[in-house]
Amino acid sequence: MSFEKLGVIKPILSAIKELGYEKPTTIQTRAIPLVLAKSDVFATAQTGTGKTAAFGIPMLQRLRNVTPEARVVRGVIISPTRELSIQIYEDIQSYAKNMSLNIAVFVGGKDLDTQQKILKEGVDIIIATPGRIMEHVEKGLNLSHVEIFVLDEADRMLDMGFMKEIRKIHPLLPKRHQTLLFSATYSDKVRKLSKLILTKPEFVETSKKNSTVDTINQVVYLVDTDKKAALLAYIIGSRNFRQVLVFTRTKASADELVLELKKDGLKCGIIHGDKTQANRLKTLNEFKEGKTKVLIATDIASRGLDIEELPFVINYELPSIPEDYVHRVGRTGRAGRDGMAISLIDIYEKYDIKDVERLIGIKIPQEVVEGFEPDPTIRRKDQEELKLKSEHKKVEVKRAKKSYKKPDAAKKTPSVKKAVTSKKRKTTKRD
Ligand code: AMP
Repeated sequence: MSFEKLGVIKPILSAIKELGYEKPTTIQTRAIPLVLAKSDVFATAQTGTGKTAAFGIPMLQRLRNVTPEARVVRGVIISPTRELSIQIYEDIQSYAKNMSLNIAVFVGGKDLDTQQKILKEGVDIIIATPGRIMEHVEKGLNLSHVEIFVLDEADRMLDMGFMKEIRKIHPLLPKRHQTLLFSATYSDKVRKLSKLILTKPEFVETSKKNSTVDTINQVVYLVDTDKKAALLAYIIGSRNFRQVLVFTRTKASADELVLELKKDGLKCGIIHGDKTQANRLKTLNEFKEGKTKVLIATDIASRGLDIEELPFVINYELPSIPEDYVHRVGRTGRAGRDGMAISLIDIYEKYDIKDVERLIGIKIPQEVVEGFEPDPTIRRKDQEELKLKSEHKKVEVKRAKKSYKKPDAAKKTPSVKKAVTSKKRKTTKRD
């Protein structure tokens, strides 16, 4: 298949050729014709599969005719984080470089008045985070001419609690508009959202649900908690890693890890929710330019990081939500390149890794690194607490089942919902 055969117009063809896109990826082959045919689309695509171009290219093509003296917002792309919005903006700008569309990115952390001025000058396509677009709506942004509405990483948006904003934005769109919903994972919440906002959608499923990209080699190293930092430094040093992205579960452990690695002479960048937008971008650029070889990030802050040919991702700690493992390791092995994902697992994460394996349907090989073998005499200190928690959960599930009447299929599995709720609560301190 070629982009020409998909019907992509010349100005876009020459722009993507310059980017080195030789042929469309699977998601692009399947989604582009559907979007051009004006269908609503519900696509599940893994991170790194080329999904931005899958909605960006046909969107630009559909909105290509511009009346410069009377520009109105005709395209809106909502994404969960500032970094991802900026990444989408940069990609779309590069696809649109031979077109006369005005494209703007509106994210928090930037001056609202400056963004208002840009709007007044005339914008065709807005890329924004849900909170920031609502701020503009409150200041009078008119969405009644929107022809294409895209929700990217919808699963993450819902995990971050943006359903309220989506519910507010949706009725402001005209009755007849096209909606494209992209999600890396396929959860009940996403399905529910799709029912609310999509009309007779075409489904594009390019991968087994929640599977990780084939080109990523995954391995688990078993290690004791207090030896994790030393093992990490050893892996980076002994294998001469040039560029490695390291994930921690919390901001606090990211901060601690930076100090630990400093002792080993490793210069690290750090990206998490307490850092300003300007600081995050500076850190990311230093990492991309090779000025720092280690970038430490938390889950939410890392969304949207697109670093070409990133060879290694290390999970210093597993995420509290198994789906985040898929997002994390998706930072490597992008667009068909090889990548490696290493997870350092201590005794407390024994069950978390099983949850991940269940989700991705793969058993990840477990190894030990010489000199860092886990002490076999160490037992979990929180056994009692764990037992209590599991008993408490059982009681909650029983109670939920008792009070639950079977209304319809969509409201099934209260136990699953309960589990999701409790996991969400666990994540409130993240980012
Ligand atoms: P995405 O899934 O949109 O984040 O894209 C992942 C990476 O693949 C980005 O660096 C894109 O620039 C790149 N990419 C997207 N489509 C293609 C293509 N058809 N050929 C080569 N690279 C691509």
